[in-house]
Amino acid sequence: MTTLVIGGAGYIGSHVVRLLLERGEQVVVVDDLSTGYAERVTGADLVPLDVTAPDAVDKLAFHLTSSGADSVIHFAAHKQVGESVAKPEMYWHDNIGGLAHVLAACAQAGVRDVVFSSSAAVYGVPDVDLVTEELAPQPINPYGATKYVGEWMLADAERAHDMRTVALRYFNVAGAGWPELADTQVMNLVPIILDALEQGRVPTVFGDDYDTPDGTCIRDYVHVLDLAHAHIAALDYLRGEDRPHRVFNVGTGEGSSVLEVIDAVARVKGIDITPEIGPRRAGDPARLICSGDRIAQHLGWKSEHGLDDIVRSAVEARADRRG
Ligand code: UDP
Repeated sequence: MTTLVIGGAGYIGSHVVRLLLERGEQVVVVDDLSTGYAERVTGADLVPLDVTAPDAVDKLAFHLTSSGADSVIHFAAHKQVGESVAKPEMYWHDNIGGLAHVLAACAQAGVRDVVFSSSAAVYGVPDVDLVTEELAPQPINPYGATKYVGEWMLADAERAHDMRTVALRYFNVAGAGWPELADTQVMNLVPIILDALEQGRVPTVFGDDYDTPDGTCIRDYVHVLDLAHAHIAALDYLRGEDRPHRVFNVGTGEGSSVLEVIDAVARVKGIDITPEIGPRRAGDPARLICSGDRIAQHLGWKSEHGLDDIVRSAVEARADRRG
């Protein structure tokens, strides 16, 4: 089995590449190295390629054919909500255009199985306790919209070609499976807290007047290693016979508030942290917790790590990087 992993030099993609290689599968990584690092890719060929480039379809099709790939996992995309609001054109062009190229190349090369990184951002601000896949998506920013459009594109590609696809809607991903594959960007809560502490600052909580037990927003934090295993389960599902669903949530089913995440960091580091309380951030739902029933039932996947494991692995990866 050979899989072309697009965005395989990134944070999540490199974890999936590592697991595929551990399973003895062949992997080719495609990455434009705009946010990924070549050092994250060991044991697989790395093809530097921007999937949004005008000639990307032919180039991708060439690499798919010459490697004998039978599946593609597509990670490469922009993923910053705020940036997507400021520069929607870039998100349409790169996230949607890039996926269009990837699907066209798969059709051209006769690749059947495609796994796509979607996001809980497709749900917008859902007014439910547990988010199931049956809930109608209502993205509230261009990032979430490009992910939802991406899911439609997969469905269209399936109808037009001999293709099978799965979209995984990630909830809040954090932690590190291997220190050298850790998230080096400071865009999400856990790295933001660790970065602030390292610089001698305290983290800021974006609002403590939400309708939640401690007033701060609740999210479903999933360990990147668990998420990586979900991709392997998705590939196995596509390779099997029974395939009633194309879209799966990936989360733990457990919610943690911003203050609980900060407490977990304090616990793991053995320090006291008194955060600053700042204003709400626009567009933040009070709670976003995943129902993992569908993925458990059909892909046999369940997360194995909790919040403390996530935080501990992120703290250890940082210490490791500092050497
Ligand atoms: N958050 C916060 N302070 C920060 C960064 C994030 O309070 O410096 C909160 C944010 O409002 C949200 C949660 O942490 O409730 C997770 O935010 P993140 O940006 O990591 O992911 P999102 O849920 O927006 O995808």
